[in-house]
Amino acid sequence: MNLLANTPAADDLTRWDRENHLHPWAEVKSWRKADYMRVDTAEGIYLWDGAGRRFIDGPGGMWCVQIGYGRAEMARAIAEQTMKMAYTSPWTATSGPTAQLAHMIAARTPGDLNTVHFTTGGSTAVDTALRFMQFFNNRLGRPDKKVILAREKGYHGSTYLASTVTGKERFEAKFDKASDLVHFLPDVNPYRRPPGMSMAAWCDAKVADLQDAIATLGADRIGAFIAEPILCSGGVIVPPEGYHRRTFEICRAHDILYISDEVVTGFGRLGHWFASDDAFGVTPDIITMAKGMTSGYLPLGACVISDTLMARVSAPDGQDVFYNGYTYSGHPVSCAAAIANIEIMEREDILGHVRRVTPQFHSRMRRIADRFDIVGDVRGMGLLGCIECRPDLHDPTYAKDLQFGARLDAACERRGLLLRPFGAMAVFSPPLIISEAQIEEMFDIMEAGLEELSAEYNA
Ligand code: PMP
Repeated sequence: MNLLANTPAADDLTRWDRENHLHPWAEVKSWRKADYMRVDTAEGIYLWDGAGRRFIDGPGGMWCVQIGYGRAEMARAIAEQTMKMAYTSPWTATSGPTAQLAHMIAARTPGDLNTVHFTTGGSTAVDTALRFMQFFNNRLGRPDKKVILAREKGYHGSTYLASTVTGKERFEAKFDKASDLVHFLPDVNPYRRPPGMSMAAWCDAKVADLQDAIATLGADRIGAFIAEPILCSGGVIVPPEGYHRRTFEICRAHDILYISDEVVTGFGRLGHWFASDDAFGVTPDIITMAKGMTSGYLPLGACVISDTLMARVSAPDGQDVFYNGYTYSGHPVSCAAAIANIEIMEREDILGHVRRVTPQFHSRMRRIADRFDIVGDVRGMGLLGCIECRPDLHDPTYAKDLQFGARLDAACERRGLLLRPFGAMAVFSPPLIISEAQIEEMFDIMEAGLEELSAEYNA
C-alpha cells in the first residue's frame, strides 16, 4: 500500500495550513499571513522541506529528538503494538508496555523515585507533580502549605497550573494566572550578575533569594519548589555551581517538596538518564519528564514520585483517591515507543556518546565567543547550547528591531541549519546522535551566519 498516493497537492497543504491551522504559540495578528516551513521528510539529524532543501535540525525538534529521525526499529515497535493492542483504559487495566516502561524508568531514576504516573506530555507531568503536592499536604492535614516557589525565566508548560508556575515573559502573556498559588524567585542567570561579582557570590545571592522567600512567606505555607536543572526555554541558563545542592538542602530542611522538571534535561541531553543526581548531586522528591522519553516519535510524559513521599501520603487512614489522570495515561503504543527508544539508546551507548562529544561542542561555542564581538555570552551544558548577543544589541528598548536570534536563525537557515530564536538569543539542542563531523558542520554554518550578521550590525 502506498500511503503517500493520496497526498494532496503542496499548494493545497500550504493554503489549508494557513487558513485552518492555528499553530501553538502563534502570533494572532500575523498567523494567516506567514507560511510555515513544511517539513516533509527527516532522517538522522536532517530535515527536508517541501522544496527538497536539507537542514540540520539544530533544536532537535523541540529538544526531544534524541535518537534521530527515520528509525525503522521505532516504526516496527509502534506498528507491532498498534496491531496487537492499541489502547486499554489505564483506569481499569494495564498493558505490557506500560508496566514494563514504568519498571524501566524506576530503574533509571535516582534514589527511591520508583512510582511512575504516566501523562501525555511535559505540561501534564508538571500539573500532576503540583497537584500531587496539593493532595499530599491536604492528606497530611496541612492545607495551608501549598504555595509553589518557581523561578523567573522558568518554563513548565501550557496547561493552567504549569503555565502559572512558568516565569517566562509572564507579564506579557494575556492570560489570567492563579497568582496566589505561586511566588517567583529572581533570575539565576550568571550572565546577568552585577559586574565584578564572583560566581560564588552570585550563588550565595541566589540561595539567599530562596531563604528570603521562605522567611517572608513562612515554610508552613510553601509546598514545593519547582526547578528545571537548566532553565532551557528561558535561554539555557545554567545556575552557578553548588546552587542545586544548597537549594535542595534548604527545601529538605523545611519539608518543601523539591520538584525537578527534567522534561528537557532527562533522557540523555546532558549525557545521563537524569541530570538531577548525576550532574548536580540532588535526589529530588519528584521528577517530571517527557520529550526524549520517546525521542519525539509519539507523545508521552511521566511524573515520578519517591517511595518516601508515597509512604507518607499513604499513612493517614482513609480511602483517598489521587484524582488525576488522562485517557491516554501510559498509552500502550507510546510506551512501546519509549521502550524501543531506551533500548536503542543503550545499545548504541548514546549517553556515552553525548559525554564524549560534549567537549568538542563546547569548544566550538567558546570559539564563537572569541571570534565574534557581537556575541555577549555563550553557555550550555551537554548537548544544550545558547548564543546571546552583546548587551547593547539587545537593550530592551530596541530589542524588537534588532532581533538577534531571529536574524541569526534566518542567516543559518539559508545555509542549511535551523536554530531556535528567543529574542536576543539563539538556542540549539541537536539530536544526541550527532557525530563529530556533523558538530563541525553545524558550527561552521553558525560561524558563517555570525559573519554575515557581524557585517550587518557593524555597518
Ligand atoms: N517543562 C519543561 C522544562 C519544558 O521545556 C517543557 C516544554 N518545552 C514543558 C515542561 C512542557 O512540555 P509539553 O510541551 O510536552 O507539554
